[in-house]
Amino acid sequence: MHARVSLFVGVVALVASSALAAENPFAGVQVKVTKVGGNVSVVTGAGGNIGVSAGPDGILIVDDQFAPLAPKIEKAIKPLSKKPLRFVLNTHWHGDHTGGNEAFGKLAPIIAHKNVRLRLEQGTKRGDRTIPPAPPGALPVITYEDGLSIFLNGEEIRVRHLPMAAHTDSDSIVIFTKSKVVHFGDQFTNGVFPFIDLDTGGSVRGYITNLRQLRPTLTDDMTLIPGHGPVGTVKDLDAFIAMLEETSRRVEAGIAAGKTLEQLKQQDVLKGFESWQTDFLNKATFTEILFRDLSRKEAK
Ligand SMILES: [Zn+2]
Repeated sequence: MHARVSLFVGVVALVASSALAAENPFAGVQVKVTKVGGNVSVVTGAGGNIGVSAGPDGILIVDDQFAPLAPKIEKAIKPLSKKPLRFVLNTHWHGDHTGGNEAFGKLAPIIAHKNVRLRLEQGTKRGDRTIPPAPPGALPVITYEDGLSIFLNGEEIRVRHLPMAAHTDSDSIVIFTKSKVVHFGDQFTNGVFPFIDLDTGGSVRGYITNLRQLRPTLTDDMTLIPGHGPVGTVKDLDAFIAMLEETSRRVEAGIAAGKTLEQLKQQDVLKGFESWQTDFLNKATFTEILFRDLSRKEAK
């Protein structure tokens, strides 16, 4: 249930952040910290799951949800270490993962893939909606192309940009090597359909290729923090990959057979995937995303 709410709030806020902030839909949101493994905890509230490394060197956070939640998040993570916040990472540019950047950027440097900075700096057009540029204080101050490592709290925290654009063209994952925890950003949404941001480079084939390449590097003893949905295991990731492969295979077969989007929706092409639906992304809307994505690539 929580996942549904957070994904919904996330995407709505992406398209109308300033109007929503004025009404403060976050007043009732509870921010909770849960231990995951080793030095790593997860913070849930509204928006993308936040990964936290906390220990003798201080605190590192992966993503920071929405701006109005920053004071609650700060209060929730403070008791985890006697030392201050040291680093902020962004897994991608979306507002439900970077909304707290301006607040946390005052406390510690923000590090992200170069396209996170670019997207935030320039703003984005999505259909007839415009996501305005982020304020300068919300921009990452250290950027990378392929990745980097941060040595903190007794372990290497390895940040890797993914080779294919998948959720967006700015996706990274964060591997806490000793704690055996991986934060996937929205490259993995546990048990729920992912939003695939076709307007900023996303593609379902990118999702599948990235995850297929990553899969052999993951071990059964790892805990996976998804961008949305509950903390999971490699088994949950396998189910996610299988869902992406089967849903895209069905839509692709429909396109190859000359079916229209309306026909595919009418024949319930994603029958059997009911449990993956959220308030924002049901079978019909996920079919639309896959159809637009896969027919666009067919046309090339
Ligand atoms: Zn996202």
